[in-house]
Amino acid sequence: MPHVVVVGGGVMGSATAWQLATRGFAVTLLERSGPGHTEGSSHGSSRIFRLAYADPFYVSLASWALPLWRVLERESGRRVLTLTGAVDHGPRAVVEELYTELRSAGRAARLLDPDQRGSAGPDCGSTLPCCSMPLPGGCTPTRPFSPSRRPPLPGAR
Ligand SMILES: Cc1cc2nc3c(=O)[nH]c(=O)nc-3n(C[C@H](O)[C@H](O)[C@H](O)COP(=O)(O)OP(=O)(O)OC[C@H]3O[C@@H](n4cnc5c(N)ncnc54)[C@H](O)[C@@H]3O)c2cc1C
Repeated sequence: MPHVVVVGGGVMGSATAWQLATRGFAVTLLERSGPGHTEGSSHGSSRIFRLAYADPFYVSLASWALPLWRVLERESGRRVLTLTGAVDHGPRAVVEELYTELRSAGRAARLLDPDQRGSAGPDCGSTLPCCSMPLPGGCTPTRPFSPSRRPPLPGAR
C-alpha cells in the first residue's frame, strides 16, 4: 500500500485521512496549526448538515455521508451530528426545487405555503413558501479530531 500524505487537517483533510486509513493506507496528515485551531473553516459547533440542495448530485453525496457521520461517532466516541429537522424558506421557485430534489431522492419533505396559513395545514412561521424536512441538523465536524484524541483516529499519524 502506498503511503499517502494529506495536507491540511480541516474536516476535509481529516476525513480523507480517516477514510484512507480505514482502507489500509499508511497516512500522514500535515497541519500547519495545532489541533482544534480556529484559523480554518472547520472549527466551531454551528455547522449545518443538510440534504436539501438544488443539485441532485449534492443530495446524493449528503445522503451517502449521513451514515458515515454515525460511523465517525462510533469510532471516535464523540457526538458529531444532532438531527433536528429544518425549514428552508425563500422564493417559491427555489423552495420548490429543493422539495422536488428531496422527494426525487426518496427523502421526506413537505412544501408549506404561507397562503394556506390558518388552514388545517402546518404553519412554517414565514411569509414565504417553505420546505420542511425532518433530517437536517447541526454538526461539530472537528470534534472527533480534537486535541484530547491523538492520533485522531486509528491509522492516522
Ligand atoms: C462561518 C462558517 C459557517 C459555515 N457553515 C457551514 C454549514 O452550516 N454547513 C456546511 O456544510 N458548511 C459550512 N461552512 C463551510 C465548511 O465549514 C467548510 O466547507 C469546511 O469546513 C472546509 O473544510 P476544509 O477542510 O476544506 O478547510 P479548512 O477547515 O479551512 O481546513 C484547511 C486546513 O488546512 C490547513 N493548511 C492550510 N495550508 C496549509 C499548509 N500549507 N500546510 C499544512 N496545513 C495547511 C489549515 O490550517 C486548515 O486547518 C461554513 C464555513 C464557515 C467559515
